Amino acid sequence: AAKAQGQHGYRFFTASMNERARAQRRIETGLRQALPGNQLKLHYQPKVDAHSGRIVGAEALLRWQLNGRDLYKPDQFIPVAEDSGLILPIGAWVLRQACRQARMWQQAGHEIPISVNVSPLQFQHADFYTWLDDVLEEAGLESRLLELELTERMVMSGGEATTGLLQRIKHRGVRLSLDDFGTGYCSLSYLKHFPIDALKIDRMFVRDIISDHDTATITSAIIAMARSLNKDVIAEGVETREQGSFLRHAGCSQLQGFLYGMPMPASELQKLLAEPVSAP
Ligand code: C2E
Ligand code: MG
Ligand code: MG
Ligand code: MG
Repeated sequence: AAKAQGQHGYRFFTASMNERARAQRRIETGLRQALPGNQLKLHYQPKVDAHSGRIVGAEALLRWQLNGRDLYKPDQFIPVAEDSGLILPIGAWVLRQACRQARMWQQAGHEIPISVNVSPLQFQHADFYTWLDDVLEEAGLESRLLELELTERMVMSGGEATTGLLQRIKHRGVRLSLDDFGTGYCSLSYLKHFPIDALKIDRMFVRDIISDHDTATITSAIIAMARSLNKDVIAEGVETREQGSFLRHAGCSQLQGFLYGMPMPASELQKLLAEPVSAP
């Protein structure tokens, strides 16, 4: 009986593997056409000052659209873009596009830094720094108006070469933040070795801070320790006023989430930037 079950298990396993591989290939084939076919767009999600409620930044988030409809979510196609190497041309496009947008906003009188998510493959590429430098130059964007969002794993795994690269980027004047903080294995004591400006508390923590006492305690401790190391703390995924007010009192300087604004086309964010501010 055990053997028969094993066989079933095996058959089930291969079937789902094939299904997944087929889905990946389908996405990869489509993704090769996405850039030349103008199907990639950036949406921008506001980051607001925790106290004044003013929009003090925006995160560029990639969308793969046809006729205004999302073809796939980033969580589905970005891993495929990474596995296939397509993330290199796509990531280059994202950075260039985001920098141009930030420059346009600045010229329109709205000076806010733009945050761009960087994939591990881009970051490990030998030419990353040169290429970053070129993009800033070409867009005419001051480096202080660009922030790169990295993950703990990217910062932790590379040894001295990574630390050197982070320092060069920092020295160039570009801000660095750690995305999804708390989900990886970066200990806070390690953080002081890296030239990181800000931590983004992961949405998983934010989701449970009101309902779960332990999560609230851990989150408050992370924020307090990060601040004692002189890092800015941003919370992502804020959906309710209760969460926002908890995080503000715990010491977050900036808040981001559906409560303050969904990711939206550049033109919509520009309208928001022109509106008067209401307290968060
Ligand atoms: P992330 O960088 O942590 O971005 C935050 C994600 O949370 C975004 O999902 C955003 O739409 C979503 N979000 C924001 N506020 C809320 C909220 O209040 N509630 C909930 N439930 N969700 C919220 P999105 O746009 O689907 O992106 C998912 C992930 O894909 C990003 O996570 C990032 O890791 C990756 N990604 C997106 N754009 C790019 C890109 O241009 N390059 C790279 N390498 N990765 C990207
Ligand atoms: Mg991010
Ligand atoms: Mg995040
Ligand atoms: Mg995330």
